[in-house]
Amino acid sequence: MTETRETIFSKIIRREVPAEIVYEDDLALAFKDIRPQAPVHILVIPKQPISQLSDAESKDHALMGHLLLTAKRVAKQVGLTNGYRIVINNGEDGGQTVYHLHLHILGGRHMKWPPG
Ligand code: 5GP
Repeated sequence: MTETRETIFSKIIRREVPAEIVYEDDLALAFKDIRPQAPVHILVIPKQPISQLSDAESKDHALMGHLLLTAKRVAKQVGLTNGYRIVINNGEDGGQTVYHLHLHILGGRHMKWPPG
């Protein structure tokens, strides 16, 4: 398992680094991506820092479901009625750059397939 280290996202959770927060509850936080790749680009993160999806365990079962349902809720909240894409980049080959698990919500334009 990857060692869980502090990332910029922990600082966003603690409000030590500013972010445009769009949703928060006891378990999750959602905020706008600083370098948006679509007209709407929001990150959903667990407050508990899990480094990456491949480190999630059985005990995280409910949290994982909560994150997905939170992404659905936030997408609706910001008006993505015509669809959206949820992405989790995992590890180096997955293109992950911040090692605090996060779901990308991408919307506001038609998404291409396959992704790069
Ligand atoms: P990854 O490449 O790990 O899947 O995605 C990390 C995402 O975090 C990137 O889309 C990047 O733009 C975003 N990001 C990195 N640092 C910050 C930050 O300080 N604030 C915000 N709001 N987003 C960030």
